[in-house]
Amino acid sequence: MRKKIVAGNWKMNLSAKEALALVNELKVKIDHQPDTKNPKNSNGLPEVLLFPPYVYLSRVLEVFKNYEGVSVGVQNIHQEGKGAFTGEISPLMVRSLGGTHTLIGHSERRIHFNEDDELLAKKVALAMKNGLIPVYCCGEMLPDREAGKHFQLVAEQLKKGVFWMNEDEVKNIIIAYEPVWAIGTGQTASPEQAQEMHAYIRQLISDHYSNKIADEMTILYGGSCNAKNAAELFAKEDVDGGLIGGASLKADDFFRIIQSF
Ligand code: PEP
Repeated sequence: MRKKIVAGNWKMNLSAKEALALVNELKVKIDHQPDTKNPKNSNGLPEVLLFPPYVYLSRVLEVFKNYEGVSVGVQNIHQEGKGAFTGEISPLMVRSLGGTHTLIGHSERRIHFNEDDELLAKKVALAMKNGLIPVYCCGEMLPDREAGKHFQLVAEQLKKGVFWMNEDEVKNIIIAYEPVWAIGTGQTASPEQAQEMHAYIRQLISDHYSNKIADEMTILYGGSCNAKNAAELFAKEDVDGGLIGGASLKADDFFRIIQSF
């Protein structure tokens, strides 16, 4: 059975004090989670991934040390393993601290830092080489959807960024479908729109690899997912959880999303 995951992308938000308050509040909620009818992890929750800013990585890891089902990663890595790249962070550094995941190709990286699929493919490869699990983000802009090009665009992002991997590699990564028009806008894709794209992505994986691989891979939805709409989105067959931005900054909201399966 494929994993259910709720991931929080804090982006460039929160002071150290606020960040610690958030994770400590979240920890208390996770500790007091009563058993659910359909437990996915030993504590009955879906897997939780946290993506704080780099500078808080160690402190967040410390809070969730030895927690089954809560993992911590970073929002980006550099595409080279080491060297004269002032201000950048390598996957080795993240892994050596205990980080396990990295976002790759978030639309804010694609748009503000001109990251294209070729560069992202390098980042995916280096992440995996260093034992980090990539969460590869894809998704169309509004004009692409309005022009009916959203399927084609997402297919291209996946072909260039992901489909060069072999079966053993690809089954370890996580895909996040994030329509750019829904990120931080309060405008969510409808559950039907999300399901339609997730089913399409799964079909692409099946065509390129196999039914079995497609069935095992976790595909997250991201884009103004919140405590009110998460349950409806997560109820869709091919939506395996969410990548949450704004609503991951409040422990109450984020925890309600975690409980939405
Ligand atoms: C994101 O940044 O990945 C995201 C989905 O943001 P938001 O939930 O705020 O739309």
